[in-house]
Amino acid sequence: MTDIKKRLFVTDSNIKKAEIAFKRQTGSVQLLAVSKTWSSEVLRDAAMAGQRLFGENYLQEALVKIDDLADLNLEWHFIGPIQSNKTKDIASHFDWVQSIDRLKIAQRLSNQRPSELADLNICIQVNIDNETTKSGVAMEDLLAFAEQINKLERLSLRGLMIIPAKTDDPEQQRTSFKKAYQLYTQLTDLYPTVDTLSMGMTADMTMAIAEGSTMVRIGTAVFGQRHTATGQVN
Ligand SMILES: *Cc1c(COP(=O)(O)O)cnc(C)c1O
Repeated sequence: MTDIKKRLFVTDSNIKKAEIAFKRQTGSVQLLAVSKTWSSEVLRDAAMAGQRLFGENYLQEALVKIDDLADLNLEWHFIGPIQSNKTKDIASHFDWVQSIDRLKIAQRLSNQRPSELADLNICIQVNIDNETTKSGVAMEDLLAFAEQINKLERLSLRGLMIIPAKTDDPEQQRTSFKKAYQLYTQLTDLYPTVDTLSMGMTADMTMAIAEGSTMVRIGTAVFGQRHTATGQVN
């Protein structure tokens, strides 16, 4: 087995274990492999090992990989911050955008989604712990914001994306995930298309599954530690 194949196997097994431990339905939690900084070759290995969903944060880097791997039937999720001059490329090359927190960006994606493609799947990013430095809509603005997003043509509102505040305290993490799940159930009551609660990364995956995540976004556990060109951990 290749390294990637082993790591994917372990990550999949850990997801299954958490589903069982917390009485979640088998297969109710999807794995999004977060592949920022990794090369097309590495992603191809992961795809050969059965991984289909990939998450990317940086547009230029992602476009190269999407093109290199066009022969595979992969699903691409954009999960990074979005500048308005990037929306056209995102609208034409991605299947999902999980980092929506501004109406203007959503409107541009809606206008720019090519008509031959399926509707672009959207998750609203919520700033669940009200951090001043973090992206995402405030909890109290979510319902009004979702209503606006849901009206836009060529977009399909699928759910929420959450990045909780960094903490070593599992109880605090759990509180953030619980809040997110409550918001998520409010949305599922209102919108039949909503079926995705994207929360949980390498360090907090198990707790996120315990609290109702339907999609974990995992980078490090699948690909290993990331390094930038400068040697910094990214
Ligand atoms: C990088 C990243 C991840 C993956 O983080 P790991 O800790 O490597 O699993 C998940 N979500 C977002 C939004 C990210 O930017």
